[in-house]
Amino acid sequence: MEFDAIVIGAGQAGPPLAVRLAGSGRKTALIERKLLGGTCVNVGCIPTKTLIASARAAHVARNASEYGVVVLGETRVDMARVKARKDAVVRESIEGLRTWFAKTPNLTVIYGHARFEGPKRLRVNDRTLEAPDIFLDVGARAAARGIEGLDSVQYFDNSSMMDVDFLPEHLLIVGGSYIGLEFAQMYRRFGSRVTVIEMGPRLIGREDEDVSAEVHAILEREGIEFKLGSKCLRVSRDRTGVRVRNSCEKGDEEVTGSHLLIATGRIPNTSDLGLAEAGVATDERGFITVDDELRTNVPGIWALGEANGRGAFTHTSYNDYEIVAANLLDGDKRRVSDRIAIYALFIDPPLGRVGMSEAEVRKSGRKALVAKMPMKRVGRARERGETQGFMKVLVDEESKHFLGAALLGIEGDEVIHSIADLMYARAPYTVMQRAVHVHPTVSELVPTLLGKLEPLK
Ligand SMILES: Cc1cc2nc3c(=O)[nH]c(=O)nc-3n(C[C@H](O)[C@H](O)[C@H](O)COP(=O)(O)OP(=O)(O)OC[C@H]3O[C@@H](n4cnc5c(N)ncnc54)[C@H](O)[C@@H]3O)c2cc1C
Repeated sequence: MEFDAIVIGAGQAGPPLAVRLAGSGRKTALIERKLLGGTCVNVGCIPTKTLIASARAAHVARNASEYGVVVLGETRVDMARVKARKDAVVRESIEGLRTWFAKTPNLTVIYGHARFEGPKRLRVNDRTLEAPDIFLDVGARAAARGIEGLDSVQYFDNSSMMDVDFLPEHLLIVGGSYIGLEFAQMYRRFGSRVTVIEMGPRLIGREDEDVSAEVHAILEREGIEFKLGSKCLRVSRDRTGVRVRNSCEKGDEEVTGSHLLIATGRIPNTSDLGLAEAGVATDERGFITVDDELRTNVPGIWALGEANGRGAFTHTSYNDYEIVAANLLDGDKRRVSDRIAIYALFIDPPLGRVGMSEAEVRKSGRKALVAKMPMKRVGRARERGETQGFMKVLVDEESKHFLGAALLGIEGDEVIHSIADLMYARAPYTVMQRAVHVHPTVSELVPTLLGKLEPLK
């Protein structure tokens, strides 16, 4: 079968791109081997944030008395109903995609695994498909790394966790980074005992030490247990579940639990794509090599989303779609290098992050200003009784442009965008310092925070 364009992967970049290509009059195929919506919709952002909402409801109910609200009896979580609610939200998103595709002329959705047979030719099931332009949005999957004995035990990853409709008695989570910590707080709030086992010396090692320490303290206050510096892990079956042993550095240390979740990182879905047949280059970790406009080394083949190694988020995948569509269809030159790093860790309270960390600013050697304020100073946080965390901003001393920010506290995942927008506008921080913000909000205190800027020592 011949098409004008083929898109592989119905994750975050694939669907909007396929619809745009079809809308431009190109006969387009969208190939998906598993589930419409890919990681984010089925086993990533949407289901986890839906589960986090249930966990927060339980947390609020348990702490209702602090607000003068009387909840009679013990707060219990019905995990089957929690899962059913999550499934319904996911189903709605998938249905939305299905309807969208069905009403798009020129678009054919094909289910099956795609594999290159040549630079312009793919095999899907028993069919050969050809197109002059091919777009890869094949995403990534969980990688269980650096742990001995995994073959001998049953364990969950972020995908299989989505089928859980019961309360694990004691959940062991290997991996103290973004995915692991979101699951940790969620299951602790559902009622499980939770132990996080992290190989590094601290949680979310990519963040500044003060951010990492405060996240640790927030989670510890909720009763989550931590084993840090667990570098030499070996897992085995135990009479009551699973045993994780760390046998280097600190001497032998072990913890047993009822269930095990591995959250140790992700690898791109590129090893079974036949990239060599098409001559498409990857880096040593399997990510597809792309230029600033997301073209691979082979003319007529682009790579978008997590598999190109230029971002590991839904918003970066979607932005990849915007970049390719703008360059190809709108004559609007957009580039990946124009993108500013932004993301959130959705524990409660969340961490909103943009731009450089303090450590990165220091490493860059530039002259910078820094300001930090505890959330206890924020009226909105005190009124809500949620004062954990802090806000930290970094600006360039000379240009007065924001360099980065870490907002760890309520609404930090929303407020971060006002800083990001000024960064995109290349406006100095003084614009925000003089702006009038609504009282009483978290945003209101950001201009006050900016008034505290002082040289980064
Ligand atoms: C637990 C968890 C929570 C997350 N939370 C967030 C969050 O809150 N915010 C955020 O921004 N990001 C979050 N992410 C990351 C986000 O889900 C991903 O970055 C995003 O889904 C990547 O989109 P993508 O289009 O690159 O790939 P995917 O969404 O993975 O889509 C790739 C698609 O390609 C298909 N495919 C692969 N190979 C082939 C082939 N050969 N033939 C046919 N089809 C193929 C796959 O089946 C898949 O459907 C989370 C991830 C996880 C795991």
